This record gives sequence, C-alpha cells and structure tokens, in this order.
Amino acid sequence: MTIYAKSFIALDGNQRLTGATTAQISPYDHYTCHLCGSALVYNPEWVTSRPWFEHTREDLTENGRHHCPYVHLEPEEARRIRMLRRYMPDVLPMVRKADWYCSGCNSDYHGERYCVDCRTGNHSTEIYQS
Ligand SMILES: [Zn+2]
Ligand SMILES: [Zn+2]
Repeated sequence: MTIYAKSFIALDGNQRLTGATTAQISPYDHYTCHLCGSALVYNPEWVTSRPWFEHTREDLTENGRHHCPYVHLEPEEARRIRMLRRYMPDVLPMVRKADWYCSGCNSDYHGERYCVDCRTGNHSTEIYQS
C-alpha cells in the first residue's frame, strides 16, 4: 500500500503557487506539485473545509517518483501513520517543514526536504537552531 502525504499548496494552470483554500474559491482544472511537477488531484472537502491536493501513482513524474517528499515519507512519519491507521483508517501523513542545508548546492532553505536547485532532498540535512 502506498500512502502519499497531503499537500496544501500547488501550482495552478498559470504556474502560480496557490493554496488549497484559494482553489476552493477559484478552481483550476489542472494542478501540479510545486516541487516535483506531478499532476495533482484536488480534494475540495466542502464538508470539513480543509481542502488539499493529492499525488496519484498514475500521474507521478520521474522526479516525483524518486524525490518528492510528498511521495517519500520520512520514516518516523510513515511509522506514526501506520500506528494511527489502526484507529483512523483514513488518516494521511503530513510533510514536515524545517530548515535544511543542501551539501550538493551549498545552500540553505526552508520548507519541505527538497532542494529546488538539485531537485532532490538526498543531499539535505536539517539545520538545528540553537
Ligand atoms: Zn510532488
Ligand atoms: Zn541542492
């Protein structure tokens, strides 16, 4: 079983970054992941009013399949979700945001563990603030 994390932002049809709540008000017919470029499915969630975007296996880009943090969960988060699912079968993982340092590009950034310059999080390590 593959579980992808919920995403709350995406690129709309004009390549503009848009939030899931904005998408409820002015929806586009096409959304892509702001990191890996995979086509996303929009879940408007009218009832709970907590809309989100979803990666699907069929529409993953090559980069997404290998590097997107919404596709590759951190091991701790995957463990947490497996536990929670015993009681809440529909629960979906979240992607943690933090400060990262990419040793491949010698740069630091904030957000998901995914360096937009080398298009992977493989060379990124977390920066712990003292
Ligand atoms: Zn992605
Ligand atoms: Zn990098």
